[in-house]
Amino acid sequence: MPGVDQTSVDELLKDAAEAASLGVGGVILFGIPDAKDATGSEAWNDDAPVQQAVRALKREVPGLVVITDVCLCEYTEHGHCGVIRDGDVDNDATLDLLAKEAVSHARAGADIVAPSDMMDGRVAAIRSALDENGFANTAILAYSAKYAGPFYGPFREAAESTPQFGDRRSYQMDSANSDEALREVMLDIEEGADMVMVKPAGPFLDIIHRVKSQTGYPVAAYQVSGEYSMIQAAAERGWVDGERVMMDSLMGIRRAGADVILTYFARAAARLLRE
Ligand SMILES: [Zn+2]
Repeated sequence: MPGVDQTSVDELLKDAAEAASLGVGGVILFGIPDAKDATGSEAWNDDAPVQQAVRALKREVPGLVVITDVCLCEYTEHGHCGVIRDGDVDNDATLDLLAKEAVSHARAGADIVAPSDMMDGRVAAIRSALDENGFANTAILAYSAKYAGPFYGPFREAAESTPQFGDRRSYQMDSANSDEALREVMLDIEEGADMVMVKPAGPFLDIIHRVKSQTGYPVAAYQVSGEYSMIQAAAERGWVDGERVMMDSLMGIRRAGADVILTYFARAAARLLRE
């Protein structure tokens, strides 16, 4: 993906300090483990890269909100978001593992954990595990309305998390149905989510708007890798004014009702906003 790299803890600290100085409010971390296995056990290793990065960020850039992605797909050798039983993702067996991962991130100092897996019941499982382990103040940003689709392609390559068989449609949502999004959002709020996310953002502005207006909850919108890459690619060819299209794309997401935008443009946009 143009302008986007996997990073080390050292490099991350430099980028994060720069982001904070530009006015970016927070960062979200995705882990690339040294080794992957069937259950994704590196996800709850307290010394894995994400946990190390969280500790370093809280120490060196304390003003920055640190969010961690909680999922198993970056950690499993098959690239699915949960453990596999009989060729399918086993929802309930996955919950305990996600809870362990979230507790490990909270122990490292994460302000917000963000489950992106879409397993049923994972927000409740994570909330109770956090509370039991003394992390009542760690917030949950739930990926509540997450649509399967082609816009994730560049990220999957970057995170090395393309499923090795099948796809994720059985546990992501039907993009033609916006009532389902509202149901998923309400379930996550009932289970204890502090903030809900719509992903991707640009193609689902109506969902952002519905979620915001019908729940009043803090809404995050994730402008995903495909949305970012399309703008970058067109700008590189001189077909569009990259900065202006970037700002228009972000403004649309904000106008739809997003309180928080996750975007690969964060630093570039913050820089422009300061001018
Ligand atoms: Zn996943």
